[in-house]
Amino acid sequence: MPHDVNSAQPPLPQMLKSSDFVRKYLAGIFLIIGLILLSVFWGFSYRSNALIKVQLLRQGQAFFEEVVITREWAAKHGGVYVKIDPETVVNPYLLTIPGLKVVIKDEEGVAYTLKNPALMTRELSEIAAKHGIFKFHITSLDPFNPANRPDLFEQSALTSFNAGKKEYFSFEQENEEVFFRYMAPLVTTQPCLKCHAQQGYKEGDIRGGISVSIPATTILKQINVNRVAIILIALGIVGLLYAIMRYVARIFIGDLNQAEQQLQEMASHDHLTHLLNRRAGYQRIAGEMARAVRTQKPLAFILIDIDYFKRLNDNHGHTAGDMVLHQLASTLLEALRDYDIACRYGGEEFLVVAPETSVEQGFKLAERLRMTIAATHFNIETQHLSITVSVGVSQMQEHDSIEDGISRADKALYQAKNSGRNRVCAVGENAAAS
Ligand code: GH3
Ligand code: MG
Ligand code: MG
Repeated sequence: MPHDVNSAQPPLPQMLKSSDFVRKYLAGIFLIIGLILLSVFWGFSYRSNALIKVQLLRQGQAFFEEVVITREWAAKHGGVYVKIDPETVVNPYLLTIPGLKVVIKDEEGVAYTLKNPALMTRELSEIAAKHGIFKFHITSLDPFNPANRPDLFEQSALTSFNAGKKEYFSFEQENEEVFFRYMAPLVTTQPCLKCHAQQGYKEGDIRGGISVSIPATTILKQINVNRVAIILIALGIVGLLYAIMRYVARIFIGDLNQAEQQLQEMASHDHLTHLLNRRAGYQRIAGEMARAVRTQKPLAFILIDIDYFKRLNDNHGHTAGDMVLHQLASTLLEALRDYDIACRYGGEEFLVVAPETSVEQGFKLAERLRMTIAATHFNIETQHLSITVSVGVSQMQEHDSIEDGISRADKALYQAKNSGRNRVCAVGENAAAS
């Protein structure tokens, strides 16, 4: 028989698992988009919080300016006189300034007292605090009035002004309430010297400042709510994206797996008979041979060749020949055990490898196959065709390669053909050729 049994078969190439590739690819895309989204949201949150803080700073600056303008007006007029009533106190510190008319009376004897800018500022601050909008405090490192002494925040601010800073602000906790505190320096002007010259102040000196406190608890809470809302929205969108990606991946991977299975099937099976092709068959056989060596069990090679198949093709056409091959494969599979391996070895030649089968048992199996095939009617359109096969059987010997086993079975097949066809011949240590 002209079998090319000595040609070593390269193993089936390991198919790339494209579903893994797609999974990795989609996971990478998800990671990149997720990171971009999270950083966009983080930037958004950071920016909106920064804007809220800038807004507080602008508010602090505006309040400060308003107080400075009011003071400037009062200082320009040397302070203002207000009618003395039970609620109006005379500023005792003013009484210590020589030449200053702290209390005056009009022609009708009504008494008025001087409200200097510092006192005015403090009283305005008390009214503002009552309204709960903001508080402010005039202070210096060396005040007339001990109530105007700086607190810790103001001390740090005044120290920083001496070092050249133009403004100072921070969030400060005061009991349960958080305040945004802003402070800027007060520059000594000519009208200020009326009272403060005795302290050694000179025009242009920075001896004090006004601190503004804006309640910020609610705003800070809003910033936090804002941050949490943005994080939740970001996580929601990333989660949604993840779910969409997973859904797409599942569908995509499902289709890919199906395509891959089809490809695997096409790569390992013969398209006409749907049996394993020679290459895939060899891979399975190699595994079975290794197992047979390991378990010290026999293994039989059975090579089947259709008799006078050329003639069948000539008489009934090539398509009829194909149909016979297709049906013969089914007949073979039905007759074999699940763990026997059947593959299309050549054009109209089939190779069966039967594990745990000696040459004698292989012979019996081959004989059963031969008789089954001979008894089968192959349906070709309206006709029923019968064929016979010749079979060669061998048993795997120690140190056999696949080719060795097949080559011996091929010799037996040659013998079967020469002895008249439609018969089984076996070769092997214990087998008598039949
Ligand atoms: P023998 O009894 O000596 O085996 O005679 P044979 O005619 O079967 O001779 P051989 O085995 O050498 O011929 C094989 C023929 O099988 C040749 C070719 O036309 C045919 N054949 C091979 N593959 C196919 C196939 O896929 N389809 C069909 N229809 N015929 C095929
Ligand atoms: Mg042949
Ligand atoms: Mg033939």
